[in-house]
Amino acid sequence: MSKLFGNLATERRSICSSKKREGGKFLDTIKAVVQKVIREGKHGPFAVATSNQLEGSVTLSLEPTVWMEKEWPEEGMIVFLGELRQKRAGWRAKHGRFWKPSDEQTQQTERSKQMKNVELIKGKCAICRGPIDKQWAGENPSLGTMCRNCSDKRDEVFGLENVEIVVQKHLRFDPLLGVHEYHFDWRGSRIMVNGKVGTIISPQADGDFVRFEGEKTRSLGTFIKGVGYWDLLRIYKAAGGETEPPALDFGSYTPTKAELLDEPILVVKVEMDNGNIHNIQVGNRSTGFGRMFAPTELPNLSTLHAFANLYVRYKFGLVHNYCAEGGFLGNDFEVRNAEMFTGDVGLSVRMNRLADDFRYVNTPEDFHRLAVKEGLVGMIAEREQSRPGVIKDASAHEVLSTWVNVMETLLRYDWREFTFETVEDVWKHYCRMQDVLLNIMSVDELTEALAYVRKGKMTHCGSSY
Ligand SMILES: [Zn+2]
Repeated sequence: MSKLFGNLATERRSICSSKKREGGKFLDTIKAVVQKVIREGKHGPFAVATSNQLEGSVTLSLEPTVWMEKEWPEEGMIVFLGELRQKRAGWRAKHGRFWKPSDEQTQQTERSKQMKNVELIKGKCAICRGPIDKQWAGENPSLGTMCRNCSDKRDEVFGLENVEIVVQKHLRFDPLLGVHEYHFDWRGSRIMVNGKVGTIISPQADGDFVRFEGEKTRSLGTFIKGVGYWDLLRIYKAAGGETEPPALDFGSYTPTKAELLDEPILVVKVEMDNGNIHNIQVGNRSTGFGRMFAPTELPNLSTLHAFANLYVRYKFGLVHNYCAEGGFLGNDFEVRNAEMFTGDVGLSVRMNRLADDFRYVNTPEDFHRLAVKEGLVGMIAEREQSRPGVIKDASAHEVLSTWVNVMETLLRYDWREFTFETVEDVWKHYCRMQDVLLNIMSVDELTEALAYVRKGKMTHCGSSY
């Protein structure tokens, strides 16, 4: 899932792996945009440019031996840079001039020449060219499918020499959930299959939708197996790409109690049904048509929500709800997060979970499946409830009133002033959350709860809390 909770720093970088980057690391020529011109540098005039073809910036001297034009470039101008060298302080170009329309064509052809073609035959194994078992790959295997015997040699189909990688790295940083990692967007990377150059449109886990020269721009393209998200990551690593974000060191934080507002800035509304809690809504968004993709009322709402969920799991020894929406399972009740995707924030609650589930059991297989699931839930619950200090067998009312208390406390602070552009912003927010929480828990309990939250997030494909 590419949606990111609680952190919003983004980084864009790009490398071109079709050119080998060995030892001294060089790229021959690139198209770049001038970011600034320094007329009186210590070593003479120079310009700084950036390019989506490589990471970081490129420094270019404007002395006549390097800059070939009579006039100096200005900010925002597109330039052609050559003989690139990587120095300790970044890239240096030994040759520069203005970009010409004819460079566009040359660059495309040059790149295609450097990409090695991959021959793939429909219905035949991409490696041994043998037949592909229908039971193994289905009636209509995609181009690039491997036979059963070759399936563990997928690295041999696409590699550094036949993929030109373009990557946008999005940094996920969420100190609350203990996340600090890159998510890679490979769209725009190129491959050559059967003599045609294709652009990767939509990367999937085991393959990609690729649009080849001549294919309609509205079409999703052709599905090619063997060049999916993880393959591209492997190739990017082999090209020397950075896959780990730079280490952060914010030190440790000692919280001090923050002053709370009289009222929460968003309403937490509890809806009852026959004496049972049925729904808890946060905020008063319209739930009518048109809410899709609308921004939430508070950018940090999902982070606050994550804390409230994981805190009640910590306190009452509850089990994570493995459904896509996330949530938690308690003593014969089930809680799901309202769907974040549609902009709803809050919880929906189902009482008498067991009786309800067993009502739909019609066959011995159903019964078996449910028994296995319940057995697992029971085992995890037992383990969770054996932690010291856990309040065992809490009712839905106890759990949910604690959840509401935590959520309302977190909302008695004006978060609207916070921005989430950089990792520092995210860290500051995390620290302030702790200040706010000291109003309802001791420093020791907060420390323990935060440690639990960092470990307690889910990493399956549904919600992480
Ligand atoms: Zn094979």
